[in-house]
Amino acid sequence: MNPEPGDDRTPEEKRQAHVVANPGLAERLDPTAWRCTQEAGTEAPFSGTYWNEERAGTYRCAVCNVALFDSDAKFNSGCGWPSFTESVASNPTIDRVVDARVDSSHGMVRTETTCSSCGAHLGHLFPDGPGPTGDRFCINSACITLEER
Ligand SMILES: [Zn+2]
Repeated sequence: MNPEPGDDRTPEEKRQAHVVANPGLAERLDPTAWRCTQEAGTEAPFSGTYWNEERAGTYRCAVCNVALFDSDAKFNSGCGWPSFTESVASNPTIDRVVDARVDSSHGMVRTETTCSSCGAHLGHLFPDGPGPTGDRFCINSACITLEER
């Protein structure tokens, strides 16, 4: 499921291709997961499954199951959404798994994050994280699933 080198499709094009290739996806995803991943929606703060989750494991894309974040990079940002200092893609030995692009919707200029493999909207990236990179990936619980270890 890793993106092909030079895959320059937009997240919308990746989503459309993934939906066509996976009939039944709309039935498998609950309505919140569909709205967040396919329509770039946002779940209400403090409402999701993982904002205060502390179990160790790998967070995978709710749509295509690729590994996106590790619990080691999760921190309590107080914002009401699961927050990570980095994606697993920060490891230079593997392909990038999270794409980022400017999002100027809702009267704000933010950086949208999407799954590089299936185009699923994940959340936004803010420059106020606690780690050395200063990154804070603010991710909808509905867009990820925790695989415990
Ligand atoms: Zn995905």
